[in-house]
Amino acid sequence: MHEYSIIQSLIATCGRLAREYDIKKIVKVHITVGRMSGIDPHFLETSYQFFREETVCEHAELVVEIEETEAMCQDCMKAFPVKDFCFDCPSCGSLKSRVVKGKALQITHIEAE
Ligand SMILES: [Zn+2]
Repeated sequence: MHEYSIIQSLIATCGRLAREYDIKKIVKVHITVGRMSGIDPHFLETSYQFFREETVCEHAELVVEIEETEAMCQDCMKAFPVKDFCFDCPSCGSLKSRVVKGKALQITHIEAE
């Protein structure tokens, strides 16, 4: 039920921003979810529908953007997209790569009225 706590803190963040910037109504909440974040975007949306009631997000659409996984080779320092969990460097064949993208979970921006 990891997604529940994520959504609750996301809505709490929106509430805080709304107070801070004197926002009456949030129209859209854009979030980025990394492919490797372990979060199920569909389940995230379902949780959102449930928890947004009677909050500042009640009428706000949740827009989920998926961040694709990207790794960087530690030998030739080239970044490359990771597909099917294949972390071999396509340039030099090295197996020493580090994930640099794909673990994100953040609000990118909020549209308000
Ligand atoms: Zn390489």
